[in-house]
Amino acid sequence: MPSPKSPPDYDVAIIGGGSAGYAAAQTATRANLKTAIIDGAQELGGLCILRGCMPTKALLYATEVLHLARRGQTWGLQPHKTQFDFNAVMARKDAVIREFAEFRQQQLTSGPFDLFRASARFLDPLTVQLDSGQQIRAAHFIIATGSIISKPPLPNLALTGYLTSDDALRLKGLPPSLIVLGGGPVAVEFAQFFARLDVRVTMIQRSEHILKSFDTDAAEALESALRREGIELHTNTRLVDASMHGALKQISFDQAGKRFTVEADEILLALGREPNLAGLNLNAAGIRVEQGRIPTDAQARTTAPNIYAAGDCTNPYEFVHLATTQGEIAAHNIAFPHSPRLIDYRLLLSVVFTEPQLASVGLTEKQARALGRNYLTASYPFNDHGKSIIMNSLDGSVKLLADPITGEILGGACTGPIAGDLIHEIVVAMAARLTAHQLAALPHFHPTLAEIWTYPAEELANNIPLLSSSS
Ligand SMILES: Cc1cc2nc3c(=O)[nH]c(=O)nc-3n(C[C@H](O)[C@H](O)[C@H](O)COP(=O)(O)OP(=O)(O)OC[C@H]3O[C@@H](n4cnc5c(N)ncnc54)[C@H](O)[C@@H]3O)c2cc1C
Repeated sequence: MPSPKSPPDYDVAIIGGGSAGYAAAQTATRANLKTAIIDGAQELGGLCILRGCMPTKALLYATEVLHLARRGQTWGLQPHKTQFDFNAVMARKDAVIREFAEFRQQQLTSGPFDLFRASARFLDPLTVQLDSGQQIRAAHFIIATGSIISKPPLPNLALTGYLTSDDALRLKGLPPSLIVLGGGPVAVEFAQFFARLDVRVTMIQRSEHILKSFDTDAAEALESALRREGIELHTNTRLVDASMHGALKQISFDQAGKRFTVEADEILLALGREPNLAGLNLNAAGIRVEQGRIPTDAQARTTAPNIYAAGDCTNPYEFVHLATTQGEIAAHNIAFPHSPRLIDYRLLLSVVFTEPQLASVGLTEKQARALGRNYLTASYPFNDHGKSIIMNSLDGSVKLLADPITGEILGGACTGPIAGDLIHEIVVAMAARLTAHQLAALPHFHPTLAEIWTYPAEELANNIPLLSSSS
């Protein structure tokens, strides 16, 4: 056991080897820092690969293909009644995930750092105790312990039983009917997935619209699509209770002053996640926790001078691109404290992988209004665009926000086919601080989905007098 004065074993020890922790380790070792990763998971790989982004997107793609095949007549095709085999759908997802996980496990076990398979808790700002009994001392720590599923809000849900997103990814058979609690990305993605597999889905969302971080026009486009696919969607509700009715599970909720009860074979709890901080003993390290999160500054520093945090344990946004950026920035700033990098939230991206997909970067109209930021906006619908008409992908639109004086693009939103891919044109435009005029003047091949951006860009350019410096 090291004495309190013994030199640190490592320049940096990273607690958690998910997206944030692994990205931090890569940056730290490239900067020649002596690095350790500590991860207490039974299976290495992190949330994104094992139970988050990758398995859900593998499943959603399967039902997208199914949905397309079932609508083959639109293009003059005459497919036989398209069937599916749920176990085969899950098996393909498992095979794809196994490959991603094995690759990450190999990266973790053979990387240029030491890996400790144990859970860590702080003894002081320079020392952690592992549950294997070992103590590790490091000059710096990066906490990247991720998030856990929030506790259910209705005590009786423990009696009725419910599925979490983890359980839904392990199902061996489909429930005939399902109540989805929540209206965030995980809720809407699973709701559409199950509905497309002929499960009768009821969604209950507290806010006036689903996906409340997006603008209302985007949420409404998805709400209509979900309702058109047979999902019963209740918004503006307050959950009241959960109970059993024979073999069925019931949820009662209030809406517009009335009490309603819905029932189904299963309930999917998709009301959100919270930082995974239990057991870290953050007090001993001098780290302040605010509203259940580890607050960090733009350099990814916590309130303890030698300790940084990255990923879901600190973020209000549970996105992998942000987790990896924070991990990289934390490690960079430990290695190069005199030339620190800052996290730039200007280019924060958000994508939901339903059909239509929703995507945004930069300011939404809601955010611009809340900030009192002057902006001009223009949008264009997919139901009037050549390529999307060919594809019969008619839901949604693209929207740009621009500065009314300079024309600089402040934000972009896309609700429609492959929105999660299309939005990256606006990421690049915003990173280069392009104006709407410059975006409109860029070549766009015809007929493509991407050329739809030129319409709102041209409209904005026509409405914003050209400054000589921004031409
Ligand atoms: C269903 C679902 C779908 C999602 N889809 C997307 C998507 O499409 N796109 C997107 O960007 N994001 C998506 N997310 C969110 C994304 O998965 C997370 O933002 C991201 O994986 C967080 O990475 P992380 O490194 O912070 O945490 P994690 O990957 O969870 O890693 C944390 C690690 O810390 C370890 N750990 C915890 N405590 C300790 C301790 N005390 N000691 C040692 N080790 C510890 C854990 O074992 C774990 O391996 C999704 C999430 C869910 C649940």
